[in-house]
Amino acid sequence: MTDLAYLTDIEAAYVRSFRARVTALPPGAIVLDQTYFYPTGGGQPNDRGTLQLAGLEPIDVVDVSKSGPSVVHRVRGSPVVLRQMSLGAEVEGTLDWERRYRHMRLHTAQHLLSARIFSRTRLRTRKAQLAGTGASLDLEGALGPEVLALLEEDFAEAERHPRPVRARLIPRAEWDRNPFAERTGLVPLPSHVDPVRVVEIESADICPCGGTHLRSTGEIGRVTLGPPVPTTGGDRITFSLVDPLRPTPTG
Ligand SMILES: [Zn+2]
Repeated sequence: MTDLAYLTDIEAAYVRSFRARVTALPPGAIVLDQTYFYPTGGGQPNDRGTLQLAGLEPIDVVDVSKSGPSVVHRVRGSPVVLRQMSLGAEVEGTLDWERRYRHMRLHTAQHLLSARIFSRTRLRTRKAQLAGTGASLDLEGALGPEVLALLEEDFAEAERHPRPVRARLIPRAEWDRNPFAERTGLVPLPSHVDPVRVVEIESADICPCGGTHLRSTGEIGRVTLGPPVPTTGGDRITFSLVDPLRPTPTG
């Protein structure tokens, strides 16, 4: 079983390196007692980076996935180093931060966009997918082209007047009473989920989510929206980060 350390709170998403112990060694992969590497899921791609045994060259983490209660880090590297990996060994994990921070910016941007679309049009998001420097979201209906300019203005506003973002666990009953629950209602939470991990953009959105997010909407930066593309079931909206290499603010 792996402790999903990146979930703890919003600041845990900013941890770039950590120590952990090896608890299993499936072929070509490593399982740790805790990890800050995000495993693919919920529309957010996995992290990449390295794992290093003290005094040896790092090996690459090329894929990360969930397997039951464990997180499996698929690795590639020197066979000599890989043979040194043993149960109980301590490793230092280091994230490919450029990639991860981009995913955090995209993910918070996606929540904000889904929330603003819902508040302007009552259209809910069926599915969202982050990839590279952009993201797509599938809506349950058609979005009028006149709404796009308003949504771009919403992003500019979120940068001019940053809103704090928080991640926390709330009791299921509290979630079910939440006024924001309607916008995510197309993807019902399984009834056994209690407590619910929610990501909250102050005064704008609360959404059940196990992803990694920014601490403020001010870190999203400028975003460009593509024209709505009709698909079966509703429009697909794409957006991308204008400055994908924006550095992480300190503090
Ligand atoms: Zn999410």
